[in-house]
Amino acid sequence: MSDKSMGINTLCTHEGEVSDTVHQGVVSPLYMSTAYAFEDVDIKRYPRYFNTPNQLALAKKIAALEQAEAALVFGSGMAAISTALLTFLKKGDHVVLQQTLYGGTFNLIVEEFENFGIEYSFTKGWKSADFEECIRDNTKVIYLETPSNPLLTITDIEAVSNIAAKRGLVTLIDNTFASPVNQNPLNLGVDVVIHSATKYLGGHSDILAGAVASSQEHIDRIRKLGMNLGGTLSDYTVWLLERSIKTLGIRVKAQNRNARKLARFLEKHPDVSRVYYPGLKSHPDYELAKRQMKGFGGMLSFELREGLDASAFMKELRLVKPAMSLAGVESTITSPTLTSHALLSAEERKAQGIADGLLRFSVGIEDKNDLIADLENALEKTAALKLK
Ligand SMILES: *Cc1c(COP(=O)(O)O)cnc(C)c1O
Repeated sequence: MSDKSMGINTLCTHEGEVSDTVHQGVVSPLYMSTAYAFEDVDIKRYPRYFNTPNQLALAKKIAALEQAEAALVFGSGMAAISTALLTFLKKGDHVVLQQTLYGGTFNLIVEEFENFGIEYSFTKGWKSADFEECIRDNTKVIYLETPSNPLLTITDIEAVSNIAAKRGLVTLIDNTFASPVNQNPLNLGVDVVIHSATKYLGGHSDILAGAVASSQEHIDRIRKLGMNLGGTLSDYTVWLLERSIKTLGIRVKAQNRNARKLARFLEKHPDVSRVYYPGLKSHPDYELAKRQMKGFGGMLSFELREGLDASAFMKELRLVKPAMSLAGVESTITSPTLTSHALLSAEERKAQGIADGLLRFSVGIEDKNDLIADLENALEKTAALKLK
C-alpha cells in the first residue's frame, strides 16, 4: 500500500492500484463492463460517468502525482482541455489565454468560442504583466502553458496565479510539457492542471488520453459537464495508461538528463546558432525555471546555422525519427515551420520567433552518446551538402 507522502516512483508504481482479491495477481485487474448492478440509488456505475474501477484507480494515481484532491481521465488531451475550459466559462464570459498555445487548443478557441458567445484575448507575451493587461470586467478564466511550445518560454506560475486569485478568477494550466514529475502547478496557486496523457503520462507513443487534476469541488463540476460531453476513455486504455505511468518517474528523469546533455552539446556546436532549453544558463528564464520546476524537462528546440536546411538535416538522422508528436521513450524531431506552424505566414512565424531552421526535439531515453553521435553525423552531412 502506498500513501501520498511517498516518493514519486512509489506513487507511480502503486498509488491507486486495484487489488485482485480473487486471484491475488500483482497488477490491477481490468474491468471492461459497461453495465454494473446498481449498488444503491445514488451510485450508478457507467464508463461515461468516470467511475469504473479502473478509471477511479487511475484518477487516484494522477491526483497523487499532481498533489491534487481529485482527478479525471479523458479520451484525449483536447477532451480534457475543452471540458475544463467550458466548465468555467459561459456565454458572455471572457478568458485570457497565453499567446503561445498548443495548436489544438488555439484552434478550439478561434474556431469555436465565438459560436458559444465566449470572448477571449491572447496575451502579447508570456510575462505575468502580459496576462494582467488582458483582464476585463467579465474575465473568468486565465489559461497558461509553461514551458511553451516550441520555444520553451517559462511563465511565472505563482505570479499569474496571484493576479488571478486577487480577482477571483480560475487559473487553468496545460502541464503536458513539464509532466507531474517536473512541475506541480497546484502548489504554486493554480486551480486546475490539465495533461495530454498522450505525451509523458503515456510515454510510449501508443495511447491517446487526457487528464485533469484539481480540488474535489472543481473536479465535481468538471465531471458534471464531462458526463454530458462524453469524452471519457475506454477502460482498456485506462488500464494501459496505469501500466505506463508506473515508469513515468524513471522515464522523465532519464529524459531530463539526456535533454540537458544534448542542449549543452548543441549549444557548443558551430553549426547550431541557438538552443532553447530552460535548463541552460543562457535561457532568459533559467532562474525562474529552477525555482518553479523540479527538473527542466525532455523538450528542447534549436536553430541550425543560417543556410543549413532543416529538412535535409532531418533526413540525415538515423536514430532520431521525424515525427509530430512528442514525449515518447524514443527521440523524435519536428520542424515547426513545416508542421505545427505551417499555416502561418512567414511574417507571423517571424513575429513569434520561429525561424525556418528551428527544430523541436523531444528527447527520449536512448543512451546519450548514441543520440549525440546521430546529431553530430547529421550536422556534418548537412553542412557538407551546403558546400557542394
Ligand atoms: C498533444 C498536446 C495536447 C493535446 O492532446 P491530445 O491528446 O492530442 O488531444 C494539448 N497540449 C499539449 C501541450 C500537447 O502537447
